[in-house]
Amino acid sequence: MIISVRRLTALAVLSAALVGCGSGQGTAEKPSPGPAGPSGVAAAGPHAEKKPALTPVFTRAEVPEEAEDDEETEDTEKTVALTFDADMTADQGQRAVRGERFDNPTLIETLRELKVPSTVFMTGRWAEEYPEQAKEIGADPLFEIGNHSYSHYGFTGDCYGLPAVKRGRMLADVKRAFTAFERAGARHVVPYFRFPGGCYDQAALRAIAPAGVTAVQWDVVGGDAFTTDTDRVVAQVLEGVTPGSVVVLHCTRSAAPVTEEAIRQIVPALREEGYRMVKVSELMKKPH
Ligand SMILES: [Zn+2]
Repeated sequence: MIISVRRLTALAVLSAALVGCGSGQGTAEKPSPGPAGPSGVAAAGPHAEKKPALTPVFTRAEVPEEAEDDEETEDTEKTVALTFDADMTADQGQRAVRGERFDNPTLIETLRELKVPSTVFMTGRWAEEYPEQAKEIGADPLFEIGNHSYSHYGFTGDCYGLPAVKRGRMLADVKRAFTAFERAGARHVVPYFRFPGGCYDQAALRAIAPAGVTAVQWDVVGGDAFTTDTDRVVAQVLEGVTPGSVVVLHCTRSAAPVTEEAIRQIVPALREEGYRMVKVSELMKKPH
């Protein structure tokens, strides 16, 4: 009886986790920017001892409207960051043992082949399951690894049905993911954090502030979770992207099976429109 209940719970969590990742910012609150300003990168730099009380949140780069229409600056201003969430929930180990693949090496290969700088938001649990891949992704300067929590549990009480991380455990959950990356030997780890499901509130921003991370949300939902409709994912991304956009997609084959196929269409189409794909770190650095 206990086992069957636990299985049901695990199933519910997987669905909730991925739907949460790709469903937009429904439960996210708009926080006021922390003292470090909207980028907050300095929080992990030389001024690390002056960490803000609230974790700063970055959703997209702000591009002046005139820049969007200015043909002369078009090529340099039209940047977009494609981000890929490598989801694996803390209690999905048994499913991986049974053969379910939470990784997507073909997608990573395609990003290399198409030379697309990308940010991968990885859970600590994923890095533990696929340490070689975590290391390889981190060794490639084309990529940077952001933190997507250790457990992929919700950082608010109401986050697409995800079990909630207790407030007192939030900071430890973030740190545990960084430790998992380190143990896998992953380099190019950046001080960015993506809340599971994009769910956060002021209490969560305060709880993880000592980690010195910037929370990275998104303005374009790729919609690749639990769909086999490649054309819809392609259309949704191409219609949603504007200069400075952050797009959320997934690097989890079993639950986002058409992402690689979609990328093969999205990347050339964006380039055709004059977009340059950059990592989140470059999008944050861009002077606007
Ligand atoms: Zn996720």
